[in-house]
Amino acid sequence: MIHWHLEADVVVLGSGGAALTAAIAAKDFGAEEVVILEKTNMVGGTTAMSGGMMWVPCNHHQAEAGVEDSWEDVVTYLDSLAPDQLDPEQLEGFLTGGPEMVKFLDEKTPVKLRTLTGLPDYQPDFPGGAIEGGRSLDNDVFPFVELGNWATRVIPPKLGPPRPTSYHEDMNLGGISDEEREARKQTDSRGRGQALVGALLRGVLDRDIAIHFEHRAMKLHKEGERIIGVTVETASGEQHVKARKGVVIATGGFEWNKELVQTFLRGPMTGPVSVPENEGDGLLMAMDIGAKLGNMSNAFWMPSALEWQVQHRDAKPNYMLCQHERTLPGSIMVNRAGKRFADEAANYNALGMALHVFDANTHNYVNLPYFLIFDQRYRSRYNAFGFKPEDDLSDMFTVADSLESLAADLGVDPDGLVQSVDRFNKHVDESHDPDFNRGSNTYDNYWGDKSFEPPMSTLGRLDQPPYYGVKMEAGVLGTNGGPKTNAYAQVLNWQNQPIKGLYAAGNVMAAPLAMIYGGGGGTLGPALTFGYLAGKHAASGT
Ligand SMILES: Cc1cc2nc3c(=O)[nH]c(=O)nc-3n(C[C@H](O)[C@H](O)[C@H](O)COP(=O)(O)OP(=O)(O)OC[C@H]3O[C@@H](n4cnc5c(N)ncnc54)[C@H](O)[C@@H]3O)c2cc1C
Repeated sequence: MIHWHLEADVVVLGSGGAALTAAIAAKDFGAEEVVILEKTNMVGGTTAMSGGMMWVPCNHHQAEAGVEDSWEDVVTYLDSLAPDQLDPEQLEGFLTGGPEMVKFLDEKTPVKLRTLTGLPDYQPDFPGGAIEGGRSLDNDVFPFVELGNWATRVIPPKLGPPRPTSYHEDMNLGGISDEEREARKQTDSRGRGQALVGALLRGVLDRDIAIHFEHRAMKLHKEGERIIGVTVETASGEQHVKARKGVVIATGGFEWNKELVQTFLRGPMTGPVSVPENEGDGLLMAMDIGAKLGNMSNAFWMPSALEWQVQHRDAKPNYMLCQHERTLPGSIMVNRAGKRFADEAANYNALGMALHVFDANTHNYVNLPYFLIFDQRYRSRYNAFGFKPEDDLSDMFTVADSLESLAADLGVDPDGLVQSVDRFNKHVDESHDPDFNRGSNTYDNYWGDKSFEPPMSTLGRLDQPPYYGVKMEAGVLGTNGGPKTNAYAQVLNWQNQPIKGLYAAGNVMAAPLAMIYGGGGGTLGPALTFGYLAGKHAASGT
């Protein structure tokens, strides 16, 4: 007989975007008591450090902004990216639940979303792709003063102070005025993932949903065919929490668990950019009770680099994602042969897959390790990994007066690097990259230098010494394989039957879009959708 220390209708594990949405939906759809159990002493998980963007096709903001979209186009796009790989039921859950979730958050919570016009889908030229964007949603800023003391419980961004602006303001309006900036300081207004988590947290607090910190969920309890609760590790020992209606696992991916990474991922993964608490606890619990698994070898891939200054909460190595650094003109990426191997400005998820090319003869991953290379012109113009042009650089950067010595210092073939740079420069002069088509689509140019016309917003010569190099990692935003669900976010068993009372949402689950990263917000769109679906269904207690 289990002694229950705590009881609720719906018990949500984790406090990232998927979890907070699940908790709010559960409450609003009729669960009287909802609790959140969080492993750390902070709210928000990786979601709080993120850009907060969500990819949700056919949402109502698109229509308001006059951007046309249709299921037909979306399905054509997804099918062209991963033929025969999508589970029709999960896909339907995403396509119907996504717009419903956006409406729900807009109407019932302080979350304020808008279409980020101009940001194209990540493979914009594929059939059905949104070339001029519209499917990615951005958060308006949220004033953290509205959180009172809770403001300090939200995980801060990875680099620098929270931004007081939204993507829309930065990318489409050219920023905000000094007066507005000052006004936002007074209200501690924050954009991006901080806005999303801040607003969701406000929604949670408004509903009196309790958050229990330093409660690490470790084991699910089953009675007959139904999940009835969970055991958690706390500072005062093991505790058992009863779930009268359902348990929602929203504990993020398994990227910080070396054994699970080696067991499941299809190639090396050396630089996760998520919170280090995402150690696969949810996956282990789900496997333990016989959940069906899916998408286990995939992840949301992301080129990353080891942070120059160890300042992480628990001093684990901290990896930073690499986005504009590899897109801005004057940089390339090369492997140890000194060769370019991909369109550096391509979307991170697709680029991450290029890192797993294997040479059967040398028995080596051809593109690992790999390096970001740029010259002094680039350095004088742009920030890189948080360093402004005027800042002293850290040991993260290797600097040399010539390409040959840079290559030698990095362990790269010098002849290969010199040849690659010569060839690239020649193609820059012709405004065309025939090797990898860098700059040939709207996405490539989006994160480039907008003071140049495409494709020169991403194509630029490397010819001004000194030269700079950074060793790069095969990183992930998070893994995205795990328990398989149906369209209601119910976890399935290997007989494809729902395990009653058990739900999964976010990076812990088998991603509904499998290997696809549709566009900006490709992880949070599905994560919050399935969080919403999970909370809604769990509240019904069926
Ligand atoms: C800098 C950066 C920018 C990004 N920008 C975007 C973006 O704009 N759009 C986008 O779609 N994606 C973005 N991502 C990726 C995105 O943040 C993640 O994929 C997403 O937040 C995952 O959400 P989640 O709810 O599944 O997990 P998380 O937000 O990571 O939350 C998981 C939570 O579970 C907790 N937990 C773990 N184990 C347990 C346990 N055993 N018991 C209880 N709690 C547990 C963790 O502590 C954590 O709080 C970005 C990531 C980074 C780092």
